[in-house]
Amino acid sequence: MKPFGGGQLLNAKTSPFKQALTKTQCIRYALDRPAVLTVLPGVRNSQDLKDVLSYLDASEEEQDYSVIGQFTPQNADGICVYCNHCQPCPKGLNVGMINKYYDLALAGDEMAKGHYDKLEVKAGECIQCGRCESRCPFHVKQEARMQEISRYFGE
Ligand code: SF4
Ligand code: SF4
Repeated sequence: MKPFGGGQLLNAKTSPFKQALTKTQCIRYALDRPAVLTVLPGVRNSQDLKDVLSYLDASEEEQDYSVIGQFTPQNADGICVYCNHCQPCPKGLNVGMINKYYDLALAGDEMAKGHYDKLEVKAGECIQCGRCESRCPFHVKQEARMQEISRYFGE
């Protein structure tokens, strides 16, 4: 599990909700999910590790993530949240996963391209049929996005 969404959730510019959460809020949210016993955030250095471990000393107020209740669907309009409600794709594209790896790559996740490269069907195979767009509850312009993703990954 990536409790910070590859860092996306910590930055208002990259979060699909356009509002930043703290690491402590993200960890508490993940731990509160049914059947989740632990989370394992990635750390790049000792400061990252200290930041994550500070969760253990965080107050209830600091752990409170109730602000996400204000993240209305309008916050996500036009932004892919990887839900895959747009499936099936006639070409077999995993729309949510493709978008997720792209966003993670943009956010600086160095492993995202490697994960993308392992996908059997990539963005370049999109035939621009528009079926996913017609089913997407967030009105994501996926036809244009698949072209953008394909260009980005150099297909
Ligand atoms: S395009 Fe829409 S329905 Fe498909 S994964 Fe993204 S947000 Fe979900
Ligand atoms: S527009 Fe592309 S990604 Fe969407 S359903 Fe059609 S082929 Fe699949």
